[in-house]
Amino acid sequence: MESYDLIVIGSGPGGYVAAIKAAKLGKRTAVIEKGKIGGTCLNRGCIPTKTLMHSTHFLAEARNMEKTGIAFTDLSIDYSRLMGRKDEVVDKIRNGIESLFKANGIKVYNGTATITSHSTVRVKFQNKTVPQSEPDAIDLEAKNILIATGSVPVIPKIEGANLENVITSDELLDGEGRLYDKLLIIGGGVIGIEMATIYNELGCEVEIIEALDRILPGMDKEISQSIAMGLKKKGIKIHTGAKVVKISEGGLGGLICEYIEKDNIKSTEAEGILLSVGRRSYTEGLFSEDVTPEMDGAHIKVNADFETSIPGLYAIGDVIRGKQLAHAASSQGIAAVERICGLNPSIDLDVIPSCIYTIPEVASVGMSETEAKDLGYEVKIGKYPMLGNSKTLLSMGERGFIKLVCDADTGRLLGAQLLCDRATDIVGELALAISKKLTYKDLESIIRPHPTYEEAITEAAGDIDNMAVHVMPRRTL
Ligand code: NAD
Repeated sequence: MESYDLIVIGSGPGGYVAAIKAAKLGKRTAVIEKGKIGGTCLNRGCIPTKTLMHSTHFLAEARNMEKTGIAFTDLSIDYSRLMGRKDEVVDKIRNGIESLFKANGIKVYNGTATITSHSTVRVKFQNKTVPQSEPDAIDLEAKNILIATGSVPVIPKIEGANLENVITSDELLDGEGRLYDKLLIIGGGVIGIEMATIYNELGCEVEIIEALDRILPGMDKEISQSIAMGLKKKGIKIHTGAKVVKISEGGLGGLICEYIEKDNIKSTEAEGILLSVGRRSYTEGLFSEDVTPEMDGAHIKVNADFETSIPGLYAIGDVIRGKQLAHAASSQGIAAVERICGLNPSIDLDVIPSCIYTIPEVASVGMSETEAKDLGYEVKIGKYPMLGNSKTLLSMGERGFIKLVCDADTGRLLGAQLLCDRATDIVGELALAISKKLTYKDLESIIRPHPTYEEAITEAAGDIDNMAVHVMPRRTL
């Protein structure tokens, strides 16, 4: 039986990063993957979405350019080229990962893994790429096993959810997808809102049905209200506090969705319906009957070292409870491998930035004002509106802000919320500040280049003691 120090199951951003880290630390490592290398993030998640978004953001800017004296005429969209480029980017990144596996001596098995004991895994080759003379399945042995099998979209129990053109982000992003004239989105969370942004810019009609009283319910209220306002201004219809009753075939678009809003039964038609109501951890067929790690609801239960109730068996990423984010999974992967190797964790796993790629972008890290107060902190808030920021003005940016939440006693940064262009790139600085226990005075004490979006951090920090230099715009905008 082939034997390894570590077998990683799943090659998404959790699994592949963990495997490379383990190999670099001298562990004989294997990866088992039943689909395409790269998992959800690369094949039908972050990378395809953000590649499409790069194009649609440009489209939005081009439409806006006339004000600056540069007019684009006859802007056209070649949907198949758009999707083709997305596939090229995905393929390039996948080739990169495969090269890294090779360079680090990691063995890849293309098959489905079943954990048969704390130290053995059976790999079944469903799409056999090995010669016919080879077996349909093999058994492998490992000192440690790391589960990184991720999550799959939740299909809500709604009549008609299985009809044709009722899809999830998987079908929209993996392969050619389809451009629907009208897309109805059920679930106004992160996936729903990012897809709404892309499809709206591509000229499609978009409507959103969200069960709770606001879209992006997990985000700071002011941010979700601002994003909702921006989407409505672009013609997207949003229904909140609305409950979908059923989906049926019919109408001009081919699909009819009935829903209850403010106690009234209403209906809307669409050509395609996107179900984006959350993702659930994926463990189907992963354990043989006699392998039963403790579960935490649908998630695999782990301790602080990411070890399950079965010694030597670890789990990270979407398959365990926590933030379903690619960068969280990668960091957990590194931390788990470090623990397996007897090293202290090198990453602060408590500070995880969250980002939404809308226009403008959204990013948050650490505590919101409400969360800090609920935890008993007396807080000081610094806030700067982006319409006072030169870079935002010269780039024709939208309304937005940078908000800092600090401990009133010590001045330490507890959290930050950003609604501005490049928020997703800027938030790393604030994550570092929170992790290293820096204060708003520390944030104010360095020189940031001018003109940049980041200057708003200096202003927001200065705002805490009412010492921001560019106060005029703040007071008047
Ligand atoms: P989500 O949890 O972010 O949002 C789901 C939304 O659907 C919620 O607002 C919920 O109230 C609503 N909902 C649930 N049932 C509903 C129903 N029957 N009718 C109407 N609304 C309903 O989930 P998601 O958007 O599917 O994303 C899944 C995960 O992937 C999230 O954890 C998200 O953070 C992650 N993700 C992150 C990024 C990013 O970092 N930029 C991008 C995409 C996805």
